[in-house]
Amino acid sequence: MILDTPIEYLKGVGPARAALLQSELGIYTFGDLLEYYPYRYVDRSKTSTIRDLDIDEPYVVLRGKIHDLQTVGTGRSTRLTALLSDNTGQIELVWFQGIKWIKESLKPDTEYIVMGKPTLFNGHINIAHPDLDRATGEGVTTLQYIPIYSSTEKLKSKGLHTKGIARLTEQLLRAAAGNIPETLPPSVVHKYNLPSRANAIEVIHYPTRPHDITVSMQRMKFEELFFLQLDYQYAKHERTIRANGRMFTVVGDHFNRFYNEKLNFELTGAQKRVVKEIRADMRSGHQMNRLLQGDVGSGKTLVALLCMLIAIDNGCQACMMAPTEILANQHFANVSKMLDGLGINVGLLTGSLKSSAKRKVKERLKQGSIDILIGTHALIEKDVQFADLGFVVIDEQHRFGVEQRSRLWTKSAQPPHVLVMTATPIPRTLAMTLYGDLDCSVIDELPPGRKEIKTVHCTDSQRLKVFGFMRREIARGRQVYVVYPLIEESESMDLKDLMDGYESISRDFPLPEYQISIVHGRMDAEAKDYEMGRFKRGETQIMVSTTVIEVGVDVPNATVMVIENAERFGLSQLHQLRGRVGRGGEQSYCILMTGNKLSSSGRERIKTMVDTTDGFRIAEADLKLRGPGDLQGLQQSGILQLKIADIVNDEPIIRAARETVQDILASDPNLDNPDNGSLKLHIIKNKRTLSWGKIS
Ligand code: ADP
Ligand code: MG
Repeated sequence: MILDTPIEYLKGVGPARAALLQSELGIYTFGDLLEYYPYRYVDRSKTSTIRDLDIDEPYVVLRGKIHDLQTVGTGRSTRLTALLSDNTGQIELVWFQGIKWIKESLKPDTEYIVMGKPTLFNGHINIAHPDLDRATGEGVTTLQYIPIYSSTEKLKSKGLHTKGIARLTEQLLRAAAGNIPETLPPSVVHKYNLPSRANAIEVIHYPTRPHDITVSMQRMKFEELFFLQLDYQYAKHERTIRANGRMFTVVGDHFNRFYNEKLNFELTGAQKRVVKEIRADMRSGHQMNRLLQGDVGSGKTLVALLCMLIAIDNGCQACMMAPTEILANQHFANVSKMLDGLGINVGLLTGSLKSSAKRKVKERLKQGSIDILIGTHALIEKDVQFADLGFVVIDEQHRFGVEQRSRLWTKSAQPPHVLVMTATPIPRTLAMTLYGDLDCSVIDELPPGRKEIKTVHCTDSQRLKVFGFMRREIARGRQVYVVYPLIEESESMDLKDLMDGYESISRDFPLPEYQISIVHGRMDAEAKDYEMGRFKRGETQIMVSTTVIEVGVDVPNATVMVIENAERFGLSQLHQLRGRVGRGGEQSYCILMTGNKLSSSGRERIKTMVDTTDGFRIAEADLKLRGPGDLQGLQQSGILQLKIADIVNDEPIIRAARETVQDILASDPNLDNPDNGSLKLHIIKNKRTLSWGKIS
């Protein structure tokens, strides 16, 4: 297959450029290059005039003559400048790299089409590293729409700026002509009236018929999402045909005694429904992989506990993995307390345990004298061996990487049932793509008696009022969180903000009347636990912290959440933080502090928070505002490696791809129909299926 040919062998590439294409853009083969799509098109006929240049334009096209080429500066600050004139004015062009090559190739007093981003520099507009094309003469492109490819400094220094890449692609299109096979089944191509793969790829890279660009892009987006869905759904399908699930047939003593003797409230309707769904999975003979979504405080942990008890009733062990030590400790304390007197052994394993203690836990685990193990990442280390692990709960899964999850899996000969819990609701499009192979349960109901949290936005100038409010709540016996951002790049600055804030609060809330806890990431685990513990027991009234308390921490008596520099947090994170209050029966409040000036997206986020407490609405808004790149946990997900589809804007295509795959697998589960031959080939070739099949 010509498309599998290593990129090195394309005319004009060679070993050095091949190495760069691989390391910089992940392009290994001819086929990869064809799937390296332009990120925009420039209409060459729409030129601006220099006099009317607008520096807010992301990309402009100019037409004019280049003159006065000069090399200025020395050493590392050497740069090449030139002037571009049209009949309305002139601006400077500047290059910092590839100077020699550019200087030699530029022909003075010749007309050029110059494309790039205008920027303001020392009061003048210039364009750095513009893309250049001769305007007339031999070899000039006849395309009206020029594809623009993103490149990197390293690639540009080897001549692979957007035009260099375009030239390679053109070259390849010629070489591969007639050898770009269709990958979608004929019935699908027919059903959606799609252009052929060869056709679409050619139009995208070399749009001689510009009106076809959109259709061609949609075809390639569909294809990309289709195969993603195929991977997930085929993996799920394989799992269901393999009858290797543990059969949890009984609900026994442990469950019943806990339910009847220990639980002093009714389950919500949603909790009951979800427990039923999970029970049905656990006795189906198939291995369960279920995602449990539910807003903070909706009672997911309790559901998980009930299911762990069923596992124990059926003679095996269960474990629960939390993303932080604080959370693991908290789960351990809660679970131990709730199960007290039922004769169930609960163990804790975290990284900060003394090695002798760790050894003991591992020993007991292996012998089977621990029924429930709760812990952090320490759980997935190689030397942690279970006697018989039957049920795995992963709490707040977005903190765990895909790879880490798959390691838990290997801890049992017969795969355990897996329940993944997340309190960050996942927008529909993402859930469909990201969790295409998981079954999904939703707890969409809060325990009774909860009051909706009141959220307000205050600026720094209203701080005294906020302090006054905190004082009143504390006087009523309540507790308060004050949270500061801690974002890695500016860690020391942020830490200073936190310490300054702590000092100012200490001044306004003096000892001995007020006690204040402080927790941040630089403290060791013991100190953190000590401070957390004091707050949990109500010995301190105020908890000043960074986002370490974001996930899962449960202090029902806390009713006020003050978030400093709230504009710096993402929506999902704000939502998580807000969920730390409103966990008891009291009216709770969330106060979002910001400076007076806000960016438009900052304002939008704050407004969303004030307007709604619905986690799903917030997740949707977050995705729209920030794009998937900023959503927690998506980094490892593969969604971000999409080459052409866009998770935010291509929802209709995602839907179509998903439904098409569902239909195909329903009518031809093993892909034996010759029509689906290319799909079978894909499954066989694609290792991703294997690893995804194993994960949660
Ligand atoms: P989540 O893990 O979804 O954030 P938790 O399971 O930690 O929520 O539950 C939050 C709090 O609500 C806990 O204190 C828990 O004991 C309590 N809770 C859970 N389910 C119910 C219920 N049905 N009725 C009353 N309180 C409940
Ligand atoms: Mg929780």
